[in-house]
Amino acid sequence: MPPMLDVSDEVRAEIGDEEAARLLAGDSAPGTYDCTSCRTPGDTSTERTSTVLFVGEETAVLAFAHATCIPSQVVPVSEEQLQGAVESISGSQAPGAAGAAPRQAVLGITCGLILIKDQVCPALVIEPTGPIARPGENSPGGPGGFGDDFLPILMEQGFVPVGDLSAPPAPLPGWSVLLAMGQLHAILQPGTAGAWWQAHQPLAVSEGWRAAVNKSNEVYVYAAPHGTIGQQPREDLLREALERACGRGVLVAATMPLSGT
Ligand SMILES: [Zn+2]
Repeated sequence: MPPMLDVSDEVRAEIGDEEAARLLAGDSAPGTYDCTSCRTPGDTSTERTSTVLFVGEETAVLAFAHATCIPSQVVPVSEEQLQGAVESISGSQAPGAAGAAPRQAVLGITCGLILIKDQVCPALVIEPTGPIARPGENSPGGPGGFGDDFLPILMEQGFVPVGDLSAPPAPLPGWSVLLAMGQLHAILQPGTAGAWWQAHQPLAVSEGWRAAVNKSNEVYVYAAPHGTIGQQPREDLLREALERACGRGVLVAATMPLSGT
């Protein structure tokens, strides 16, 4: 039984017909893998699998994902991020490693436009779907754990509390927002930890958001603890919610450049 692999034309163009044929014949395809999108196990012998090629300046890494998560595609990344992707794809990061992001939590993410200094700026607002515990600690609300460590963890990683929403957040070196083919794929962090946040399915962004980000090449990333912002149906309401969070001192932010556009 050949593996159930999808190799898109753009991936084929990068890896060549010969390698594509070897993959499709099962010679170089994995049996099981960790999905590069949702990070749960997949099996090429029982479910349709997308080949995903991460392309850096010098090297490229072929990874696999459930076809239901993302289609077969080429994702351009920087060499440094590629190393991070390799690390996280091969699962070499020990669970609960120091400095680990709250990757096991579900982070809700909202695209919005925010007016700063008369400029329409692309923003992402991140809010977990529940309180966040540090890796290896008791879950919040569980025995002995009632806190929400989301903001302290982010501040340790360099996010800065927002005191004034009318000023752009400070840049956070090494972090970037991965947008490919007009869709939001991931927020990448420096070093070997790979994606800090990864879309289960790439998120479509609005025409206006894409136009703003193409102009600025950077994104303002805001984050607030669970229960602070909520789903806001309109951008003016999102702004009001951000202002409220800012006023309560529970909003942190960072400016991140785009990677891989
Ligand atoms: Zn998946």
